[in-house]
Amino acid sequence: MNKLLEVSHLHKKYHTLNNEITALEDINFSVYENDFISIVGPSGCGKSTILSILSDLTDKSGGDISIKKGYQIAYMLQDNSLLPFRTILENCLLGLELTGQLTEENKNYVLYLLKTYGLESFIHQYPNNLSGGMKQRCALIRTLAVKPDILLLDEATSALDYQSSIKINDDIYNIIKKEGKTAIMVTHDISQAISMSNRVIVLSKRPAVVKNEYILEWDCNELPSMNREKSNFSKYYNQIWSDLDEQI
Ligand code: ADP
Repeated sequence: MNKLLEVSHLHKKYHTLNNEITALEDINFSVYENDFISIVGPSGCGKSTILSILSDLTDKSGGDISIKKGYQIAYMLQDNSLLPFRTILENCLLGLELTGQLTEENKNYVLYLLKTYGLESFIHQYPNNLSGGMKQRCALIRTLAVKPDILLLDEATSALDYQSSIKINDDIYNIIKKEGKTAIMVTHDISQAISMSNRVIVLSKRPAVVKNEYILEWDCNELPSMNREKSNFSKYYNQIWSDLDEQI
C-alpha cells in the first residue's frame, strides 16, 4: 500500500484573549492511496481543525504531518463559496488563475471534468441557475482543477435535504473514485461517513484523541447509496453510534 500521509501526535491549542482551548490532544492516523477516510466525533471536538491544519490554514501546536514527496492536498470549499458573478467555467478556473497555472492543458482538463460529470451545458451559466447538487459537483471540479492527490471534504453535503444528499454523496464518491483521488472527509453524519468510506476514524470529545478506527469492507465499485442497503451497514452504525454515545 502506498502511504501518502502520516499524522503523528498532532496537537492543537487555540489561544483566545482570556483563555486557552486544547482542541486536539494527540491525533494519529495514516492515509493510503485511494483511501476514502471519514473523521467523525462530537460537535466541537476538533474535526475541522484537523482539515485546517492539513491544508495549512491553521498552524499546529505540536506533532508531525508528513506528506509523500510530490503529492498535493486541496481543501474542497463549500458550494456557497462559488462566486455568483462568475460563470461555472470561470468559477472552476479560479484556482488555476490564482496559482498561475491556467495553461491550455489545465483548462482542457476542467472542460473534460465539466463534460464528463454532466455540467457541459451549464458552463456559461451562473451558480444561481444550478441545483444544489450541481453546485456541489462544480465546487468539486473547481478543487480537482489543480490536480490534487488528496482531497479534504468538510461536511460536503450538510446544506442539502436528505434525498439530495444521498444522490450527491454518490456523485462525489463516483467522481473521486473515477479520477483516482484519495479523500479525507469530516462529518457529523455517521451514515454518510459509513456509506462513503473504507475507514472511519472516531474522535473523542475535546481535547480529541482517536478513540477508535474502523475498517469497512465495501466493494469500492459500488456507490454509497448501495452500501446503505447492506446488512453490515447497521452493524457499523451501531458500533460507531455507541462510541459516540459513551461520550455524551
Ligand atoms: P468540530 O469541527 O469538531 O465541530 P472545530 O475544529 O471547529 O470542531 O473546533 C474545535 C474546538 O476549537 C471548538 O471548541 C472550537 O470552539 C475551538 N476553536 C475552533 N477554531 C477556533 C479559533 N479560531 N479560535 C479559538 N477557538 C477555536
